[in-house]
Amino acid sequence: MGKKSPRKGSSISTNSISTNSISTNIEKVAQSLFEQGAERTSFLEAIAQGERAVTAVVRLRGEIQSKIQGEIAQVGNSATQRAAWLPDWISVAAPEERPGRSEQHQNGEIYCLDLSSTFACATLSQLAQPTGILLDVCAAPGGKGIVGARYLSPQIVIGNEVIRKRTLQLISNYKRCRMDPALVTSCDPESLAQRIPHRADVVIVDAPCSGQSLLLKGLAAPGAFHHATISMNEGRQRRILANSAKTVAPGGALLYSTCTFSREENENNIEWFLKTFPEFHAVTVDLLAPYRSRYSSQACYRLFPHEGHGAGAFCALLQREGSRSSLEICIDEITDTLRPTWRSPTVFALRPAPIKRQEAEHSRKAQRGKWKGRDDKGSRRFKRFTADDQE
Ligand code: SAM
Repeated sequence: MGKKSPRKGSSISTNSISTNSISTNIEKVAQSLFEQGAERTSFLEAIAQGERAVTAVVRLRGEIQSKIQGEIAQVGNSATQRAAWLPDWISVAAPEERPGRSEQHQNGEIYCLDLSSTFACATLSQLAQPTGILLDVCAAPGGKGIVGARYLSPQIVIGNEVIRKRTLQLISNYKRCRMDPALVTSCDPESLAQRIPHRADVVIVDAPCSGQSLLLKGLAAPGAFHHATISMNEGRQRRILANSAKTVAPGGALLYSTCTFSREENENNIEWFLKTFPEFHAVTVDLLAPYRSRYSSQACYRLFPHEGHGAGAFCALLQREGSRSSLEICIDEITDTLRPTWRSPTVFALRPAPIKRQEAEHSRKAQRGKWKGRDDKGSRRFKRFTADDQE
């Protein structure tokens, strides 16, 4: 999944699965979503056209210079008005612009992602800021956490990515965007639940999903609409959600999002979650009122690809009852808590504090690839960096 389609602009990649069976599966998902013919047709047409992604430019600091300030996105042949849920620090790039190749991008002044990926983060405008700990459970390559941090000004960001290889891109993006203090961990959500129970003020679960909207980004997604893929993801998402819920502090919130359309992975999971964890409720987000999902009585929000704001998204903001006693955070204590003591998760620390000379020397060597890093037990898995040292 995620491989560039050989037939760009076409929705359907054949990769060993017949075009007919893919179309039937897409039809089935479309039928489960839309009773009315016209809307179902628009949805299917958007999928058939592919390439619905719209580049959003998130301003992290400074002003956006050059042409990167388009208020209107050109999607296919139609111009789409700026979405009301976009804060003034998010712009929409014109189709010919390549903000990801700009100097501002290189300097970490901007972060670029599909417009619909910023949709879920708009729910965070409901929460008080600054916040304490922002935990991004499924973090790589980092987009939601970086946009979330822009909304919430947290005291520390913990970005977790279970696939070790993907943490490299996450760390690189955190460093470029100067996300400090930040920790990057690579462990199963169950380990996070054991290590930092009820500690995080805001938890983002941008869950691995069947990836149906990848087709709208011109990417191949064979099997994304197959019921077996959907059902496998539903189970995995519930497990991630259940463990992530345990990390949420009293009064804290959990943002659940996916980039897929099937109800099983979206509204059904939220309903299951609220039954399993009755201490949470779904938060109504007024800004997203026009996008309220019709498939649940709970406050869930959907962006469909035929609405013109990117490839599509789903989100719900779930708040735990209670109130936070204090926002006091000891960053060293959190770092130590997450330091590997079991099945070797990795912890990277990015922080602006001055560092010891010996540690700086080790970090410089690590950057040159000559030093692998050792943890307290001499294992070669713990690396501790500081942002200053990396610049
Ligand atoms: N939030 C990211 C962003 O905005 O840049 C995108 C996250 S992507 C949709 C889902 C992530 O979940 C992937 O990086 C994937 O490696 C990770 N993942 C896969 N299986 C997981 C699991 N069992 N538990 C936690 N994360 C998992």
